[in-house]
Amino acid sequence: MATQICPKCKKDSFSWHIDDERSGLTDWSCYRCGYQAKENEKDESFCDNCSKKMRSRLKDIETEYWWCSGCNKITQE
Ligand SMILES: [Zn+2]
Ligand SMILES: [Zn+2]
Repeated sequence: MATQICPKCKKDSFSWHIDDERSGLTDWSCYRCGYQAKENEKDESFCDNCSKKMRSRLKDIETEYWWCSGCNKITQE
């Protein structure tokens, strides 16, 4: 499985697994810094930076933000 750039430590070590199919939540975690976040699959939308439908809503213990897995752009909203 391909890894993504971690929004926290910016290393290529961010990967996901589906926690519960019914909940529609995907768990993301970084094996380098231990950062964890949850993604709600329903919130996927188009990224205004790269125009791909790869922008998703990530929620961690502190905050919620948009994160694009195509270009790694983070948008705090
Ligand atoms: Zn990390
Ligand atoms: Zn993007």
